[in-house]
Amino acid sequence: PGAMGEPGEIYIISGKGENVFKYHGNICNFIKKGENVMSKVYDVIVLGAGPAGLAAGLYAGRSRLSTLVIEKGKDGGQIAITDDIENYPGQIVEGESGPSLIARMTQQCEKFGVERASDVINEVHLDGDIKVLKSAKAEYQSKTVIIATGAFARPIGCKGEKEFMGKGVSYCATCDANFFEDFEVYVVGGGDSAVEEAMYLTKFARKVTIIHRRDELRAAKSIQEKAFKNEKLHFMWDTVVEEVGGDGILSEMTVKNVKTGELTKIVADEDDGMFGVFGFIGTLPNSKIYEGTGLEMDERGYIPTDADMHTNIPGVFAAGDIRVKSLRQVVTAAADGAIAATQAEKYINELK
Ligand code: NAP
Repeated sequence: PGAMGEPGEIYIISGKGENVFKYHGNICNFIKKGENVMSKVYDVIVLGAGPAGLAAGLYAGRSRLSTLVIEKGKDGGQIAITDDIENYPGQIVEGESGPSLIARMTQQCEKFGVERASDVINEVHLDGDIKVLKSAKAEYQSKTVIIATGAFARPIGCKGEKEFMGKGVSYCATCDANFFEDFEVYVVGGGDSAVEEAMYLTKFARKVTIIHRRDELRAAKSIQEKAFKNEKLHFMWDTVVEEVGGDGILSEMTVKNVKTGELTKIVADEDDGMFGVFGFIGTLPNSKIYEGTGLEMDERGYIPTDADMHTNIPGVFAAGDIRVKSLRQVVTAAADGAIAATQAEKYINELK
């Protein structure tokens, strides 16, 4: 049973526990009910629906290639949890949230007939002319694969971090900021993400302190200028977090000054009984499933490509943050996706 709307609206057709999300019309293109995904060989399967994956889908769809974009969670990847984007060309100039930007990318992609699946791929066979991707519930086949599975937040690396995840330690301000309404919050990191998310957190928290391991931010100058003007934002320079703790909820933290070696214990205000620690110290690639498949990766798990997004395996392309690259931005991810899809089309034409 499902909801059936007017033409052009989203049809939700529930299957047998699998792929509930099937699309229709110019908003969503469901994998048609009863269609056997197992036996279909797509021209292009895109793994990941962040800016790179959706741009790849858009270009592949516009080229009339049969295209499936598979995403395990929410569309958008890391920008799904970004509050303010101000440097994507053509975005709403006043500033725009990640979810708002990605919603348009999704619609634009689907307008060109791209199919979608919500699934967790846990096994890939990338060699051979037909690539095979397996999840717990389905097997997908394709002539080409565009890997756009992006990256995820790097753990802070302090003692107690795992234990207090979701109990005071977070990596997503958009998701968790409201839990800290009028509390104190610490943000670890000094890059664009740390500073932007810290500014976002000042809308909720009473006081936000950035803990950075150096005495100078890495964030873009324009972001720094805004941050230094924000009266609720404070800085703890040359400092790293050694340990977080508390009685079930995060209420104490030990930090170390890297220049003097001095350790300082920070304890939550008695009336608060807790505080928050948000980690924004860069990312790690989502590339575990490609280990042992013959796909070349660097020592950190990022995928090297040439300028045309070719990996070392014919018919397999990589795009976006998962690539070895110097600038990980929405605009570079989208550009990678466009190139990868164009090259996938060329590869398919050469197979004929
Ligand atoms: P990033 O630029 O790599 O910055 C990571 C920050 O964490 C750096 O300040 C780094 O310190 C610090 N750090 C790294 N490892 C650490 C550790 N073990 N302990 C303590 N601190 C550590 O990461 P990001 O801010 O997530 O940004 C990633 C990419 O996305 C960048 O290219 C960025 O420009 C882009 N981005 C852009 C925007 C935007 O334009 N609006 C927003 C968000 C992200 P050091 O400075 O000492 O190395």
